[in-house]
Amino acid sequence: MKKGGGLVTGIVIAAVMGYWLYDYLPSHYNPFAPLSPTDPPTMITRYKLRELAKQPEACMAVLNQAQQLKMIAFRPAPDVRGDCTVENPVRVTRFGDVALSSSFLASCPLAVSSAMFVQQRAVPAAQTVAGSKLTRIDHLGSFACRNIYNRPGARLSEHATADALDISGFRLANGERLSVVRDWNNQAQKGALLRQLFSDSCAFYGNALGPEYNAAHADHFHLGMRGFGICR
Ligand SMILES: [Zn+2]
Repeated sequence: MKKGGGLVTGIVIAAVMGYWLYDYLPSHYNPFAPLSPTDPPTMITRYKLRELAKQPEACMAVLNQAQQLKMIAFRPAPDVRGDCTVENPVRVTRFGDVALSSSFLASCPLAVSSAMFVQQRAVPAAQTVAGSKLTRIDHLGSFACRNIYNRPGARLSEHATADALDISGFRLANGERLSVVRDWNNQAQKGALLRQLFSDSCAFYGNALGPEYNAAHADHFHLGMRGFGICR
C-alpha cells in the first residue's frame, strides 16, 4: 500500500460511518440528529430535551412539529418582563384530544416535554391501565413569579420562568376522575394509574416531584425542567 493509503482508508470509513449514522440510526439513538417529538425518551433524547433550553429556534421547530402532529395546540405569548423574565413563551391550550382545565403559559422546553409525556405515555397508560381515553388534565398552574415554596430569600422557583407545570388530576372518557390528593394512595386501579403516570413523567422532565416527596406536593405532580432525572 502506498504511503498515505491508511489515511485515505480512514477518511473513507469515517465518511461511510457518518452517512450511516445520519441515514439509518433512529434520531433517539443519534446524538447529531435533531430531536423529534415522537422520539422515545432514551438518554440521547433526554439530553436533547435538556439542550433545547439553550436553543430557542431549535425548540420552536420541535414544538411546531408537535403541533402539526396534533400532539399539542399552542399560540405564541408575549414575553414576560419585570422581576421574572420569560422569553418566547407559548400559551398551551390542549394536548391533541386531551383538554386542559385551563390554558397555561409555558417556556418552549416545558411545552415540548409536556406534549411528549402526554402523547407518548399518559394517553397510552390510561388506555392500558383503565381501558379508557384520557380526556382532560387538571392543573394548578405553570407560571408564578415567586421563590421556591414562597420563602423569602430562597432561589426563584421554576414557576418563575414558566418551566414547571403542576398537575393535580386526570379525567377519562368513562367519567372517572383521578385526583392526586385523593387517589394517590388508592390501592385499586385509580391509584395504580396515577402512580404509573407519575413514574412515566420522570423520563421527560428534568425533575418530577410527587406526593411521596413532601407535604407540599400532596395534591400535585410538579413537573419541571431543572435538573436531570430527578424523580421523587
Ligand atoms: Zn410546582
